[in-house]
Amino acid sequence: MHTYHTPLDLVRSRHVESPVVCVRPDRVAEAGRWFQDNFPGEVLYAVKANPAPWILQALHKAGTRFFDVASIPEIQLVAEHCPDSRMAFLHPVKSRESIRRAYYEFGVRIFALDCEAELAKILEETNHADDVTLVVRLAVSNDGAMFSLAGKFGAPAYEAAELIRTARAHAFELGVSFHVGSQCMQPSAYRSAMLEASRLIAQAGVTVDIVDVGGGFPSIYPGMQPPPMDDYVAAIEDAFEEMMVLENADLWCEPGRALVAEAESVLTRVELRKGDALYLNDGAYGRLFDAAHAKWPFPVRLHRRRSTGPRDESSEQTASFRFFGPTCDSLDAIPGPFELPADIREGDVIEIGMLGAYGTALATDFNGFGTIERVAVEDMPWPSMFEAQPDLAEDDGATVINFARARRRRPRLKRRA
Ligand SMILES: *Cc1c(COP(=O)(O)O)cnc(C)c1O
Repeated sequence: MHTYHTPLDLVRSRHVESPVVCVRPDRVAEAGRWFQDNFPGEVLYAVKANPAPWILQALHKAGTRFFDVASIPEIQLVAEHCPDSRMAFLHPVKSRESIRRAYYEFGVRIFALDCEAELAKILEETNHADDVTLVVRLAVSNDGAMFSLAGKFGAPAYEAAELIRTARAHAFELGVSFHVGSQCMQPSAYRSAMLEASRLIAQAGVTVDIVDVGGGFPSIYPGMQPPPMDDYVAAIEDAFEEMMVLENADLWCEPGRALVAEAESVLTRVELRKGDALYLNDGAYGRLFDAAHAKWPFPVRLHRRRSTGPRDESSEQTASFRFFGPTCDSLDAIPGPFELPADIREGDVIEIGMLGAYGTALATDFNGFGTIERVAVEDMPWPSMFEAQPDLAEDDGATVINFARARRRRPRLKRRA
């Protein structure tokens, strides 16, 4: 992969006929290390957010050794690129073939379920093995999140206690999990979900070995500034203390978005302008699915081939634009609005940022527009949830958390004065 210092260097030095995905390995490494250093438990990367081999390799290099997978192809990817890692098959509805292959071919020992029928499938396809960890997925409120994941999975409260009890009888280790929704803007959502899980565990009257708080950790998008990531960890730590679980119970989390969102952007070329409508060479069937369908507010900036002065020749004035993608489908429309220089024109290149999570992962080849290029860049144009760690000397006293339940104790820096 070719490396440029910045995307503008690329735009000025050559033509960009297809969309160019700019990858920022440093951003993944920084996020991966932050979670390894600050989350007081196990960190599983949710592979669906971005299964690109370079992402898996970067996370692996940053210390990630545990992955949340949902299918055999995801399992194969992790097995290939992160060979010494553990995997948890946390999709609550799995085919019987995939359960069998995961267990016997790939050594997966952790399986999720949210109903008794799925439990029966897991037990039958693993031949009632005595080394299976079962994770019961609970339905919890997704009110704090920008993107609900509550519509499909999770045992409802009126069934959960019974399911936890039944699973306990068959599990080598038993966990409970939930997902508060993606891009969760309220740390207290984790606390509420954990206390609800605790209530259900108490009602079941059994012990659990693992509390898995799922994904949902946020990134920064225009108009969507979440509280600091430290607040999420603090809320989770506090709630874990209050939960009715064994003293040595494990705490897990499964971030997807937060680990990879900052790591990719796309350079897309304006092929035509009609008034406030810009026809681009990337769109809803490429990397802009969420921009089109969820109206997600991704950051944009203009890169122009030639400069005529100390600044870009782009005018100081901006205007609101909407985008159309390259396919012939009228759903390939991204309403925005996006603020860009008012004189934007054919041949200009727009960089759309923060597409590392659910951007490249959702792209298709529809209508012949699947070709992209990938380059590495070294700049950091948008705000990060993981700014450089504070200097120890400047800290108000780095503390080793006294966290009896976390099996692996990690020093945690207090970042707020
Ligand atoms: C999608 C998903 C995740 C990751 O969610 P983010 O909001 O991207 O952090 C984690 N766990 C499960 C089970 C998921 O389905």
